[in-house]
Amino acid sequence: VVASIGNLNFDLYLRISELPGPDENVEALDLYTGGGGSAANFAVAVARMGLGARFIGAVGDDPLGEISLRELRSEGVDVTFVKRVRGMRSGVVVVLVHPDGVKRMLSHRGANLGLTPADLTVDKFSGVRHIHLATGRTELILRAKEIAREIGATVSVDGGTALARKGLEIVKAAVEGVDVVFMNHVEAKLLANTGDHKSAIERLARELRAGELVITLGPIGAVAFKEGKLLQVDAFKVNAVDTTGAGDSFAAAYIAMYLEGRDLYEKLLFANAAAAIKVTRPGARSSPRRDEVVSFLES
Ligand code: ADP
Repeated sequence: VVASIGNLNFDLYLRISELPGPDENVEALDLYTGGGGSAANFAVAVARMGLGARFIGAVGDDPLGEISLRELRSEGVDVTFVKRVRGMRSGVVVVLVHPDGVKRMLSHRGANLGLTPADLTVDKFSGVRHIHLATGRTELILRAKEIAREIGATVSVDGGTALARKGLEIVKAAVEGVDVVFMNHVEAKLLANTGDHKSAIERLARELRAGELVITLGPIGAVAFKEGKLLQVDAFKVNAVDTTGAGDSFAAAYIAMYLEGRDLYEKLLFANAAAAIKVTRPGARSSPRRDEVVSFLES
């Protein structure tokens, strides 16, 4: 079983032609709703890789929380240990999508913040061989590392912008000893305090003490650093329609290969392929099944 820790959201996508002004109403062109939250997206993506998936997070005691959990269950994700926070609203993200594809996001983290390190107890990790943290909350990362040590599980961290914003010293302490660290190039540049992704990678490879450092480069591909070696693998050329959740899809596919003991090239290739399929489909949870990735790579 692979456990993922972090946010679960209910996403509301509204396609709009213009932004409303103060006290103004604009009719949306279209509405799409679906599950979101990086850790929950990862859990779904990893379940589609054919692995056991357990999501550890928190919802409120509202109908949106119910819907979000039902969606995860329908994907075969174990939600037994999701915390119900009384009197709080579940996480909601409103995404305003303009005709040119530009997105504006409004998020309410709500009950997600109700998950605390004290909730991460060993009993919730029975049968878990890998823990993925899709959160920038260092207190959760530090606690999960302790549990992983106790149960002999490996750990990956994808802290997103929230983690990168905390600065190099805090991130160094948080990811020390982590097996795989994921970030995108924007986060890498922010963290390394440079505008150039090559020097960002070099600096982070030097500074972070993690087993593998994997930096995704959007349509360019991804680069990984392990034991003094740097390897870049190009992205696949596809017609991208929605890159939401591409990083989660990438990480889940990478971890599936990591757990099989594949080499760096195989991991990057497979993860690029999974993410390439994901970006050709709308929605944050449109990651492919393992067999889809295999046929994509054979074609
Ligand atoms: P995030 O979604 O976390 O911001 P990226 O934008 O770097 O991360 O995308 C993650 C991965 O998704 C990339 O490493 C690549 O494999 C794939 N990807 C993203 N955008 C495209 C694209 N336009 N075409 C093909 N693959 C893409």
